Amino acid sequence: MATDDPRRRVPRTDAVLADPRLADAAGRLGPAVVKAAVTAAQARARAGELEPARVADAAVAALPETAGGLRPVLNATGVVLHTNLGRAALSDAARLAVAAAAGHTDVELDLHTGRRARRGRTALAALQDAVPEAGDVHVVNNGAAALVLAATALAGGQEIVVSRGEMVEIGDGFRLPDLLESTGARLREVGTTNRTALADYQRALGPETGFLLKVHPSNFVITGFTSAAPIEELATLGHPVVADIGSGLLRPDPLLPDEPDAASTLRAGADLVIASGDKLLGGPQAGLLFGSADLIARLRRHPLARALRVDKLTLAALQATVTGPETPTWQALRLDPAVLRERTAGACERLVTAGVPVTLVESEAVVGGGGAPEVRLPSWSLSLPEPYAEPLRTGAPAVLGRVDRGRLLLDLRCVPPAADDDLIAAIRAVAA
Ligand SMILES: *Cc1c(COP(=O)(O)O)cnc(C)c1O
Repeated sequence: MATDDPRRRVPRTDAVLADPRLADAAGRLGPAVVKAAVTAAQARARAGELEPARVADAAVAALPETAGGLRPVLNATGVVLHTNLGRAALSDAARLAVAAAAGHTDVELDLHTGRRARRGRTALAALQDAVPEAGDVHVVNNGAAALVLAATALAGGQEIVVSRGEMVEIGDGFRLPDLLESTGARLREVGTTNRTALADYQRALGPETGFLLKVHPSNFVITGFTSAAPIEELATLGHPVVADIGSGLLRPDPLLPDEPDAASTLRAGADLVIASGDKLLGGPQAGLLFGSADLIARLRRHPLARALRVDKLTLAALQATVTGPETPTWQALRLDPAVLRERTAGACERLVTAGVPVTLVESEAVVGGGGAPEVRLPSWSLSLPEPYAEPLRTGAPAVLGRVDRGRLLLDLRCVPPAADDDLIAAIRAVAA
């Protein structure tokens, strides 16, 4: 190696770590995170990609915002509940609640009496206030956990009677029938893919019956020659009816008229309703169970309940979601296309002025999260050359768009307006 080889001038790790900015970051993020950023910058300097004198600067620039590992992403996909991006974005109210609950909290203690109290009682009360049709409420880790708990506690060693038209695969290869059978319950399939009548259920009932299950086919539709027995009819058959509504709407919403909701499903006669917390409710990952007081008590007392219980952070976020202001999910769903057009056109103009090859195009957004598959939300997007996709995705902030017919579309519907300047700066940096 020649003496003037820049690789010889790469500063030593302890010298770089002495930089006050990095010393400060080590206190905030932990020494391992900072050291990893320094090591990566040194490697780039050794490879000749970086001036050795700039190693500390590069390490500072590469530091993550938090030590959490998960990188924030600007969701410009036009998919409101993007499963790979963690479904619902929490409201500011829920984020504050999570931060406040992160220390020691009264999650299982009544501060007035000094005695132990029901875990998450205020969040449960908020859910029950929102759905007074429920005799009681329970919360577990996610919708799948709620199904497992119901199947185990209410149909262990017995049969779950379910229509062949409702044997759903949720996504990523997870199939509800497999999930239910993993509990030891047996599935009793009735009817056909497209048509199931009340008599089909009736014929299957007997001493082996644990409960009847209705599953909302959230991520597909069957049209044409179809029929299904409504919950009102199933409720007359003398066995518990469990309804998995998927989406987590607590009450009907005119924007999504085909999505079932917990209140109406209970009124129709379901004994237990199961839903997710991070789909249309717009909250944290959770499985919500609304039902009669005696069924909920059986679930809560089952040993498995302890294995599926939720964290204090989830309870805090859930309550703030239920009682708080409109969630980002609903702000995105209800966004007026004219308002979005104006905002997107403004961003487009700023980019064109900066020499970026961008146009404003009409597009369509979707609900996502395996819900409301037929709903299309009229939307507007920035259209960029496809090669912008990768650098935007891997940049800071990470920006995820959608590639459509050789173009990268960025739909601002789910991007917080306060992040527009960051988004524009990120696009300009790619163009430069
Ligand atoms: C999403 C969904 C589930 C699974 O819920 P998770 O919260 O993802 O575990 C179960 N059933 C239906 C009908 C769904 O839509």
